[in-house]
Amino acid sequence: MIDREENRPSWDEYFMLMAKLAATRSTCLAFPVGAVIVKNRQVLATGYNGSPSGSVHCTAQGFCYEGLSSCDASKDLPSRAVHAEANAIALAARHGISTEGATIYVTLEPCISCLKLIISAGIKEVFYETNFNIGDRLTVRDYYVQDGLIKLHKMTIRDGVAVKSGEFLTNPVSVKDGEITR
Ligand SMILES: [Zn+2]
Ligand SMILES: [Zn+2]
Repeated sequence: MIDREENRPSWDEYFMLMAKLAATRSTCLAFPVGAVIVKNRQVLATGYNGSPSGSVHCTAQGFCYEGLSSCDASKDLPSRAVHAEANAIALAARHGISTEGATIYVTLEPCISCLKLIISAGIKEVFYETNFNIGDRLTVRDYYVQDGLIKLHKMTIRDGVAVKSGEFLTNPVSVKDGEITR
């Protein structure tokens, strides 16, 4: 039996869980990424890594660019997909939702392009799960942080919360204890 109170997600975990759910919709072959923009504990927009609206998905055509198994496979070609953060910001723009002062939860640390976009969209804080930037990109990232343009937090979802969430996903949730059949 999972301890319901102990494994109740914190707000940060709650929104990161949502970002992970969003990532399940990713259509790029590179890797799944999900993002959730939040302000005052309210979800403003979500996004995932995928080709631009209306364009064929990488997963559907079986390649990102012809002959390339993923967008990671080329040093020269940019990702064919719109990154999760960019998609979430674009969705907010489409619906006229201000992202000023918001926070974004992303399953992957934003690339520099997305970080610039996040900063320009007025988003002040980023919570992410997996590191991405290395070398020069890390230096650029750290300049932004040092200049106070953005706050970055690496976080993880606690094991108990992750297990509970998995159970919630694989079983009907709103049933009495003991009625869950597996
Ligand atoms: Zn792709
Ligand atoms: Zn990006």
